[in-house]
Amino acid sequence: MDKTIGIFGGGQLGRMMAQAALPLNIQCIFFETNTACPSAALGPVFSPDKQELNAFIENADVFSLEFENTPLEQVDELIQSKNIHPSRQALAIAQNRLLEKNLFKQLEIPVAPFIAVNSRDDLHQAVESLGLPIVLKTATGGYDGKGQFVLRTVEDIAKAWADLGHAKPLIAESFVHFSREVSIIAVRGQNGDVKTWPLAENHHHQGILSHSIVPAPNSKTLQPTAEQYISTLLQHLNYVGVLTLELFVTDDGLYANEMAPRVHNSGHWSIEGAVCSQFENHIRAVAGLPLGSTEVIRPTVMVNIIGKHPNTADVLSLKGAHLHLYNKSEREGRKLGHITLMPIDDRELPALCHALAKILPEPLSLTTDMSW
Ligand code: AMP
Repeated sequence: MDKTIGIFGGGQLGRMMAQAALPLNIQCIFFETNTACPSAALGPVFSPDKQELNAFIENADVFSLEFENTPLEQVDELIQSKNIHPSRQALAIAQNRLLEKNLFKQLEIPVAPFIAVNSRDDLHQAVESLGLPIVLKTATGGYDGKGQFVLRTVEDIAKAWADLGHAKPLIAESFVHFSREVSIIAVRGQNGDVKTWPLAENHHHQGILSHSIVPAPNSKTLQPTAEQYISTLLQHLNYVGVLTLELFVTDDGLYANEMAPRVHNSGHWSIEGAVCSQFENHIRAVAGLPLGSTEVIRPTVMVNIIGKHPNTADVLSLKGAHLHLYNKSEREGRKLGHITLMPIDDRELPALCHALAKILPEPLSLTTDMSW
């Protein structure tokens, strides 16, 4: 092997990064509590304690992460002797919604008006100044819509505070009346080269991404603006690796919701659907190699497998379906794998979506408006 990359976290994102790294003679190792994690099939897992952290640091040339809430103290330990991409600064900002939203504002990337909330009085004031409805969120630690409360009436203040008051610091945001949710993923190399994949249109079920359509239908006019926002972030942070920006589409244009300093679920389609996937380009960037083309081969729909596995043979018998399983056991709400639909003729995509929906164990309403 030519190089070893140490990855904080050992979930499916690490697994797919390591799968992309192998053909480049790059080995991945992982720092993760669960030694039977999805990444374990691809490389050794160091399970967190101080001694293991030192061994993990010693055993890789350069570092990255797939777990956004990687403790900053662990990163501090490592940056004394080695490099991590993306940087500690980018990670610290992405871990805190207040820092993140302030950065968006500073860089003139539109965001819903927001206010920091540290007491019940602050929440009253937020309701007064922002107007209802508002979304109250934990500033740190939330994911998949957890740690959030939508306040629609003044009576909701007490309920929201009872629910989230213990999880300070909080952020209150104006509720955005969006028509759809999209994400843009980009990669920046060590030489400053930036490449961007097309916008994904993202559909959620119970707060979890259910499926993404790429390119997002009717998004030609949104794409340049989204590219400008993410490029501004990448340059400002001197970022290396893949960055994701989640956006709301509104009548007034795009509003940034949050960024993820890593490869993203809405980019899984790129394994088959792009010339170079988000995983391979991330590995290339971290290893200091030239970036690959982010051009789309054909439009795709990526469907998450959540909670229950479908019958493998049924999925594989669909022409144009690519199955990715993460070696995880079934549990409600858990991402167990994904399926990328990419028929040779993209006019067949809506019919293929219908065929897939019929064989999935969980009900799924796939949007079939696919006018590019
Ligand atoms: P987040 O954890 O910030 O990604 O939020 C999870 C989901 O909540 C988003 O995908 C949106 O569907 C919804 N959401 C978050 N913030 C807002 C907002 N300010 N206005 C309306 N919906 C929101």
